[in-house]
Amino acid sequence: MARRHRYWTGHLAKMTSNLARIEAGGAPEPIILTPDSPFLAMGKQIESLHAATQTLQSQVEIRQATFGRLIDHLPLGVMLLDANRQVLLANSAMAELVGHPIQETKHDYFDDIKTYRLARMIEHTYRNQKTHHKELTMLNTQKSVDASVIALNRGTAELQVLVILYDVTYLRQVEQMQLDFVGNVSHELKTPVTAISGFAETLLAGAKDDPKTLDQFLQIIYDESSRLTQLITDILTLSRPDSGQAQAKAVNVLDLVNDALKSLKQPIAEKGLEVKTDVPKDLTITTVPAKFSQVVRNLLNNAVFYNRKDGVVTVTATADEKNLKLSVQDTGIGIAENDQERIFERFYRVDKARSRHNGGTGLGLAIVHDMVMQLGGEVTLASQVGVGSTFTVSLPLADLPRFYK
Ligand code: ADP
Repeated sequence: MARRHRYWTGHLAKMTSNLARIEAGGAPEPIILTPDSPFLAMGKQIESLHAATQTLQSQVEIRQATFGRLIDHLPLGVMLLDANRQVLLANSAMAELVGHPIQETKHDYFDDIKTYRLARMIEHTYRNQKTHHKELTMLNTQKSVDASVIALNRGTAELQVLVILYDVTYLRQVEQMQLDFVGNVSHELKTPVTAISGFAETLLAGAKDDPKTLDQFLQIIYDESSRLTQLITDILTLSRPDSGQAQAKAVNVLDLVNDALKSLKQPIAEKGLEVKTDVPKDLTITTVPAKFSQVVRNLLNNAVFYNRKDGVVTVTATADEKNLKLSVQDTGIGIAENDQERIFERFYRVDKARSRHNGGTGLGLAIVHDMVMQLGGEVTLASQVGVGSTFTVSLPLADLPRFYK
């Protein structure tokens, strides 16, 4: 009887401790049970309970890892806070927006959120348990974010606060660039229009009676209206989205260069320039002819206009298996090093008066840059003040961006 009692209590104690082990996430200790043992069914049940718990645990781990990966790859900054203002979870986008790594263990959110307006939104949410939404600038990183602070489990003791930050810095920059562009365009359009109306007004007020003045002023009005037309054409070229509709074709490089030079015949002769072309006769490139031609024309225009009297313009083209390299070299005024980075910007000119006098719009190189990018290439510049400039365009011979094929 006593042995039987020991057997029962011993087994029950082991099984109880095994259940406790399973509960704590561990494995049960093995118990040897004979086939006729009254504990056999219970032992088997404990085994299968262990197996089920393990499966569940690994499923939870997989989910946890997936969730972790998902949240870390979200482009949104996410942070979850508990009712005691402790950070339960934050992803890497949030760390980037606050400007420093976020500790993984629980800690006060004040350690991470130093932006006063965001901290105030969070405090409001704790106080009135309402969702808040605002655009603000992060203190350390100066990023513009669209912030949402959301109250979860409202009205319970387990109130949680979810902070979601959407980085809108790039959007705001683009908007600013568009505003700047519109501002520049209006300013640039105003200059020739003011000149035209000013000279016309003077003529009407009586200057027309002097034939010499009449000729001179009409010439100015004509030049300024040509400039206006050129400006509008350039602005339209830059504003037109690259629809990718244009078809790529095989273009003979030498023919295209000669065509561009033809329309510059007069200014080349006036300046007494010598033009050298070193382009293989049979060199062809598969590209969008209109865009390639704009690039060459604009570079040649500048090489002529910013050249010295009796200077030289040299056009060279070579190709390897993949790329065409076309350079336009002049012996002109050159470009100082600190201007070299900026001359591809819209409306940037080193010497405003000189550029305007030449009929320049300050958009030629911006167009070159845009077109070369669209064609999948790049443009570089080497220049020395007083010696000359060389613009080199590198374009893929055939491997154009996909939409042109
Ligand atoms: P612009 O219509 O004024 O020529 P671009 O965009 O073509 O406008 O050129 C921008 C500025 O870069 C010019 O105003 C000029 O100051 C400078 N620049 C461009 N090409 C040359 C060159 N070949 N030699 C010297 N300066 C140049």
